Amino acid sequence: MTANPDLEEQARKLFSGPVEFLKSAPDLKFLPDDGQAPEIAFAGRSNVGKSSLLNALTNRKALARTSNTPGRTQELNFFDVANPARLRLVDMPGYGFAEAPKDIVKRWRRLVNDYLRGRAALKRVLVLIDSRHGLKDVDREVMEMLDDAAVSYHLVLTKADKLKPSALGRVYEEVAAEAARHPAAHPAIFTTSSETGSGIAALRTAILEAATL
Ligand code: GDP
Repeated sequence: MTANPDLEEQARKLFSGPVEFLKSAPDLKFLPDDGQAPEIAFAGRSNVGKSSLLNALTNRKALARTSNTPGRTQELNFFDVANPARLRLVDMPGYGFAEAPKDIVKRWRRLVNDYLRGRAALKRVLVLIDSRHGLKDVDREVMEMLDDAAVSYHLVLTKADKLKPSALGRVYEEVAAEAARHPAAHPAIFTTSSETGSGIAALRTAILEAATL
């Protein structure tokens, strides 16, 4: 992707300004009004590093709380970036935890599907994939949900610091080849580490770009 220094600087400034928790929506009726600000949503298997990535993007230590307890985080959390909000980050509940009771999986699907379909403000979803594990079937299911809902998404490889560059390169190629077969997958795939900060500035820029489409 061509770097755009202006946009990168704008994104850096935007994310170093105020970021505020707006609300949690355990159900569609609690969603903030559609269309107030462009929304970028984050999805990924539990433990993929979603909270850490949200914190790294916003330079916060504890914006997004980590919770790996299945069933505790069945809600969409909205965060306003800038005041008044220029964009809204949406933390979607983690999926794919082992031994999730069926009704929780069903609830997750309903909540996420209802949100994805017909949300005018939703500009892009970031689907987080643990670099060490690559794509799993649960990730593929989510990608298909997004394809069906025609919501554009980026795949984001997390925890890149855990792999050697050669191994990371192989995972990237595999993931990119598979993404190319999904109609709503954006060709730009990001590689990030919340630990070292690598890829974070590029992802901020992509978020701002998607929000201003
Ligand atoms: P979530 O369940 O998706 O919100 O995942 P968390 O952000 O809570 O991260 C799960 C675990 O992975 C925690 O132990 C984090 O410290 C660790 N982790 C998250 N991101 C990174 C990263 O970029 N590098 C490394 N080495 N560990 C990470």
